[in-house]
Amino acid sequence: MHQYYFTEEHDLFRESLKAFLEKEVIPNIDKWEEERRTPRSIYKRFGEMGYLGLYYPEKYGGMGLDTFFGVVYAEEMMKVNSGGFNTAIGAHAGLALKHLNAEGNEAQKQKYLVPGIKGEIIGALAITEPSGGSDVASLRTRAVKKGGHYIVNGSKTFISNGVYSDFIIAAVRTGGEGAKGVSLLIIDREMPGVSAHKLKKLGWHASDTGEIHFDEVKVPVENLLGEEGRGFAYIMQHFISERLDMALIGVCNAQMAIDYALKYTAEREAFGRSINKFQALRHRLAQLSAETMMNRAFVYSLYKRHEDGDYIVKEAAMAKLVATQLSDKVCYECMRMFGGYGYMEDYPMARLLRDSQLGTIGGGTSEILCEIISKIMIDSKAYKAAV
Ligand SMILES: Cc1cc2nc3c(=O)[nH]c(=O)nc-3n(C[C@H](O)[C@H](O)[C@H](O)COP(=O)(O)OP(=O)(O)OC[C@H]3O[C@@H](n4cnc5c(N)ncnc54)[C@H](O)[C@@H]3O)c2cc1C
Repeated sequence: MHQYYFTEEHDLFRESLKAFLEKEVIPNIDKWEEERRTPRSIYKRFGEMGYLGLYYPEKYGGMGLDTFFGVVYAEEMMKVNSGGFNTAIGAHAGLALKHLNAEGNEAQKQKYLVPGIKGEIIGALAITEPSGGSDVASLRTRAVKKGGHYIVNGSKTFISNGVYSDFIIAAVRTGGEGAKGVSLLIIDREMPGVSAHKLKKLGWHASDTGEIHFDEVKVPVENLLGEEGRGFAYIMQHFISERLDMALIGVCNAQMAIDYALKYTAEREAFGRSINKFQALRHRLAQLSAETMMNRAFVYSLYKRHEDGDYIVKEAAMAKLVATQLSDKVCYECMRMFGGYGYMEDYPMARLLRDSQLGTIGGGTSEILCEIISKIMIDSKAYKAAV
């Protein structure tokens, strides 16, 4: 499969990224997980290495690379085994900067995208609200235009980089009810009336998931991202790549769990032999490996179609649906192969299992993905690109 998608350049990139992560990230991960945050200094290092701007245009400081450099990047980042660290970097580089690059005007790109790619400022994407996340079209945060400003009131919750980011791309209601009333605004953390607090959670510990409040925040009209009333369409469009990335993360989680289990079951002995000689475990590992490999092949093929310009709403939803469920299953099954050690923080399985659980929730829950797939499949609903 490797030779169909990856070139020698991709392989060289993988080696240098791996060396960087082994030196500058992996030795610090336990500390960042305990501190419940990813420090600003590592964003700067990622910026200096070019990792925050892999696919953004060179004229804004990006590297303008193809999709499969992004796949290599995601695969190596997963080996760090910290969903929280991955999210802290990803919510900035893969969510906030993606909207700026796609919908931002030149002035916005100079102000936010250029320093964002350098890791000098950090962004967040805030869609979900306390009253609901799945039904994006019903969001309640209001932005009322008065003179040269929007006055913003409302709350966002479960926002990755919600506490320590410098700017927030927020989905707000500028118009009437429904999807057509939604717009995107860039809100600076330092604007009066913005406050946030960190949420305690099951996993993703190195990420500062936060609740953000906007109280009479005056946002200049220049901070409108793209066109007024098009926010919902922009969000849906970027969900394709987000869902592909989450599907790949699911596959990587599953593969890591299998790799850890292969190593452990070769070393651990019971009843006078290594436990990888027991057929019950051997067949389980074979089955889980087969399912993981098939999922990886599907996800790779979708990245290729996405790169070629196919608008793959249904397929991306299918990939995320199945790969994130697979991840939960494989992490759980492999954790059990470690016996009691699987439950201990000194071994990698506990964190892997915890962090996997978010896959079926974020970026569209499994139920919402089934809704999308069935609407396309059964009701012949058609989705079109926003821009
Ligand atoms: C750690 C973490 C990080 C996150 N990061 C971000 C972020 O950076 N930015 C951001 O905007 N959001 C973020 N989220 C929010 C996430 O996207 C939402 O939690 C998710 O979309 C679900 O929304 P909800 O929590 O409001 O659940 P709800 O929408 O209230 O759903 C509750 C349950 O009802 C089900 N349900 C809802 N509608 C239907 C339906 N039509 N049919 C069947 N079942 C249905 C859901 O599947 C779910 O099981 C994050 C969440 C977490 C936990």
